[in-house]
Amino acid sequence: MSIDTNLEKINDIIHDTCTRVSRNPKEVTVVAVTKHVDVKTAEEVIRSGVTNLGENRADAFLEKYEYLGKQAIWHFIGTLQSRKVKDVIDKIDYLHSMDRISLAKEINKRAEKKLKCFVQVKTSDEETKQGILQKDVLPFVKEIGKYEKIEVVGLMTMAPFTADEEKIRSCFVALKKCQEEVQDLALDYAPCTELSMGMSNDYPIAIEEGATYIRLGTSLVGQ
Ligand SMILES: *Cc1c(COP(=O)(O)O)cnc(C)c1O
Repeated sequence: MSIDTNLEKINDIIHDTCTRVSRNPKEVTVVAVTKHVDVKTAEEVIRSGVTNLGENRADAFLEKYEYLGKQAIWHFIGTLQSRKVKDVIDKIDYLHSMDRISLAKEINKRAEKKLKCFVQVKTSDEETKQGILQKDVLPFVKEIGKYEKIEVVGLMTMAPFTADEEKIRSCFVALKKCQEEVQDLALDYAPCTELSMGMSNDYPIAIEEGATYIRLGTSLVGQ
């Protein structure tokens, strides 16, 4: 399958899902996750019209950035080790994995300008999933106010990989609820207008529950 064909299908599904739940498809941004493909394929993705790219490892990101630079809007979607912060921080546009105060502190020390961050929330009980527990989200967001270079644009989560739709949906519903709680705080550094949720196997459900950024790897660029 070509990227253009895949994208056509994805856009149809986004459109149909939005229609079903009375949302505007323009509210949903596709982030192409290029972690499993090479620079040339990433370039093809940009040419197909998807300019938001997501990478989850610092080294692989830097390799693509060197070649593609500002042609893309860059999303860092994986766990970011503190010692890698200085390498990537002024090159990425969004960080989807803000998950600890020590990371906020390091970013604050190293970044030249404000960084748009999603706080990653653990909404499932899978041991392998990263993120802040739901009950800790509000204290975490308040604490982050100390670090003036962090802007909390939204929340991010990963649902478990399962065929159980209700299990998946409950994670997205939980993230939406956390978002409303953060918005109620009315903090100027945490507008929290965005929800980064939904991957290849579950993005229609995520859109139904309010996703504004969906992160698509396999369905867009293949295995
Ligand atoms: C790999 C990855 C994705 C994309 O997964 P697909 O199932 O290939 O769409 C999305 N989000 C994160 C955080 C990832 O690591």
